[in-house]
Amino acid sequence: MIKVGGIVPFTTIDYPEKLATVLFCQGCPLNCPYCHNQDLKSFNDAKDDASFDEVLDFLIKRKKLVDAVVLSGGEPLFQPKLKNAIEVIKEKGFKIALHTSGANFKIFDEVYGLIDYVAMDFKVPFEDYDVIYKGKEDILKSLIKIAKGKVDYEIRTTLDPNLLNKDKVLSMAKFLHEKGIKNYALQLCRATDDYKFDKEKAHSFFIDDEFLNKIREFFPNIVLRK
Ligand code: SF4
Repeated sequence: MIKVGGIVPFTTIDYPEKLATVLFCQGCPLNCPYCHNQDLKSFNDAKDDASFDEVLDFLIKRKKLVDAVVLSGGEPLFQPKLKNAIEVIKEKGFKIALHTSGANFKIFDEVYGLIDYVAMDFKVPFEDYDVIYKGKEDILKSLIKIAKGKVDYEIRTTLDPNLLNKDKVLSMAKFLHEKGIKNYALQLCRATDDYKFDKEKAHSFFIDDEFLNKIREFFPNIVLRK
């Protein structure tokens, strides 16, 4: 069904106001330099279809504890049977949240009518997207679908100081605003032993009132996640 590379049994932060279980889908074709899920990038290092039954059993046993299932990654939109998996999980009574890069519009379009919440990353200015993923037209189609649709959503940008500066983030906010996006979040990038950067530079996004006020011209209720 879908390849599940990991599970977080219980979360209160991945789906607003819901208690949820996160299923991490195995495989992602993007190339985010700050990726903290390197183990989930390969499309091969996963359990096979049979494990979905185990996952489902696990979910059913937790039905009294959690309201929702968050499909994260990796990148869920590269699971060819994502729609079937969502249908099966919904049949068991769970709401569905999707965490995605929006990088495969065909599958996104298939599942959009089934999901209850979507959080989509907008990683770099649209014109720079080839650095991360050579399929930016899908990203744009997914954004427009979200902007025009009725499903609750959040568009997110991780403030990686190696990839972004304030001018770029401002241009991204303007781009999203022009596409009709209303809900936007900026989140701090986390440095690791494998991915280092100047932490002060990363934090400087959040302590620059002039920069934040310019963002608020496009998104008065922007969420800042440090
Ligand atoms: S989209 Fe997510 S899983 Fe894929 S490379 Fe980027 S951070 Fe990693």
